[in-house]
Amino acid sequence: MPAIRGAKSKKKTRRTTRGLDQVFADVASKKHLQQFLDTHAPEDLPGLGQYYCTQCAKFFESETNFDKHEKGKPHKRRIRQLNDEPYTQKEAEAAVGLTTDNGRKTEESEMVDVEDAIADVR
Ligand SMILES: [Zn+2]
Repeated sequence: MPAIRGAKSKKKTRRTTRGLDQVFADVASKKHLQQFLDTHAPEDLPGLGQYYCTQCAKFFESETNFDKHEKGKPHKRRIRQLNDEPYTQKEAEAAVGLTTDNGRKTEESEMVDVEDAIADVR
């Protein structure tokens, strides 16, 4: 398989894996991961779908390959990326000044949090 190089090549979706936000949800909830895995028939997957790296959203042919992958740089890089929470659409909208005003007051809860924080310090 050719490597992904250049802008044109990056537009091709053949080797596209799951996005970081999807993987983040996979790691957080087993149900989310199972829903994704259920969309593939095991006989179509490499190694019958037995060796799956949740963080990288990749299937492996054998246990040897899977172990090798877990020790590799791309896997470790991916785990580092997953340590911070992914951006959400809401955050993106908030950054450009779009906020949701449901008419609920959040001041009260914030004030309680501050008091708790002070109490913890003492
Ligand atoms: Zn991995």
